[in-house]
Amino acid sequence: RCEHGSPWHPRAEACRMDSVGDTLQRLRETFSAGRTRPAEFRATQLEGLGRFLRDNKQLLQEALARDLRKPDFEAEVSEFSMAQHEIHLALRNLRAWMKDEKVPRSLGTQLDRAFIRKEPFGLVLIIVPWNYPLNLTLVPLVGALAAGNCVVLKPSEISKNMEQVLAEVLPRYLDQSCFAMVLGGPEETGQLLEHRFDYIFFTGSPRVGRIVMTAAAKHLTPVTLELGGKNPCYVDDNCDPETVANRVAFFRYFNTGQTCVAPDYVLCSPEMQERLLPALQSTIARFFGEDPRSSPNLGRIINDKHFQRLQGLLGCGRVAIGGQSDQSDRYIAPTVLVDVQETEPVMQEEIFGPILPIVNVRSLDEAIDFINRREKPLALYAFSKSSEVVKQVLARTSSGGFCGNDGFMHVSLASLPFGGVGASGMGRYHGKFSFDTFSHHRACLLRSQGMEKVYSIRYPPYTPRNLRM
Ligand code: NAD
Repeated sequence: RCEHGSPWHPRAEACRMDSVGDTLQRLRETFSAGRTRPAEFRATQLEGLGRFLRDNKQLLQEALARDLRKPDFEAEVSEFSMAQHEIHLALRNLRAWMKDEKVPRSLGTQLDRAFIRKEPFGLVLIIVPWNYPLNLTLVPLVGALAAGNCVVLKPSEISKNMEQVLAEVLPRYLDQSCFAMVLGGPEETGQLLEHRFDYIFFTGSPRVGRIVMTAAAKHLTPVTLELGGKNPCYVDDNCDPETVANRVAFFRYFNTGQTCVAPDYVLCSPEMQERLLPALQSTIARFFGEDPRSSPNLGRIINDKHFQRLQGLLGCGRVAIGGQSDQSDRYIAPTVLVDVQETEPVMQEEIFGPILPIVNVRSLDEAIDFINRREKPLALYAFSKSSEVVKQVLARTSSGGFCGNDGFMHVSLASLPFGGVGASGMGRYHGKFSFDTFSHHRACLLRSQGMEKVYSIRYPPYTPRNLRM
């Protein structure tokens, strides 16, 4: 195989070993032959993913540092350990998850066997974004391989150091008859999407999500869309400002704000804002020092395009904290904006950077109304010492996930489904939810040829007796 381990490398002509069509055909043949179905084969692939992580940790850490200057701690908790945990969980539960699931029977099916069979879809396409380029590659891959599928992986071309490591190293750890990688950007992905897949798992922006879903519709291919949006963070007056500042700042500035589930903006009263601002100021100083630019705990913006977009957002409202930026380093200081208008770009688009606007509301009702007037978010956060207030926000809104009195801790639990609702996406994964997402749930009833006399009462010619059946 070529040095990139890829059948098709659009940026390196020498690696074009065969066409994508041929590769897909090869994977389809593997699937049709039943090669990926046995538990042993699936477990071998999952063990391969585990070895890939262990053997190449330094290489992967370096790639994350080069692409995003991701601090090692953040890489550890949000990339390596989540992926390792998913592999471990899938290996431990594989056989139980694969088992046919018995279901209750009716009077007329008492003598039959009724069950749900978890069947692999076949050929799965996984498309990955750049912000958690290892986690968002491996976690869906674990689910797809555990469920017995063949996989085509399309990493992000934007996190280019990770793309290169994945392309060169990952294929060595997986059976080449069930796995292929295709590299490229929008154009190549567009071409890839013209082919028929049995399932498409996409993580990325709502804009591209629409393109993926449109392409999938042509073949009636089912999709999971893991998208983004603006995640509200309501802060009630009944809060300890220092605690809220610590928790909101940690999750807003984690990965330099480039997180789909980051709290995107704070909703609070003007009085709470007065108490929160000094607390945020001291939290930011404690986390990143007086000069965050020289802090090892703050990453960088992925590329110039996103840097310029974020620099534009710094002009919205009034800078209360931070606001500095440096193009040469793609550095944006942890920033808090106040006096922000709803109509300004910072409140219209997903921020995806270290900028936190505060929007004032006069009451809980007004906050809930503000949230409900917008697209359903991927995550929603509510802070209050009163559990009643948190419960009210939960009960009167909708979002992919919810966390009371903290940031995206709910995502760390593989026992919870991860996914959006409405414009923030469709479908769910993590843990067993991943296995189920990548499996067709086939409804099965097995009956013998006996008891024909009893069953014959349903046949025509119909008489009143049929109706009493
Ligand atoms: P993106 O939508 O620009 O790109 C995602 C993938 O789609 C990449 O692999 C890219 O090559 C491909 N792509 C880009 N343009 C395309 C086109 N025109 N046709 C076909 N494919 C195309 O997203 P991104 O900038 O990489 O990531 C940021 C977005 O992803 C944010 O909106 C964020 O909220 C979202 N996100 C969501 C989750 C989640 O789990 N819900 C996780 C991370 C990121």
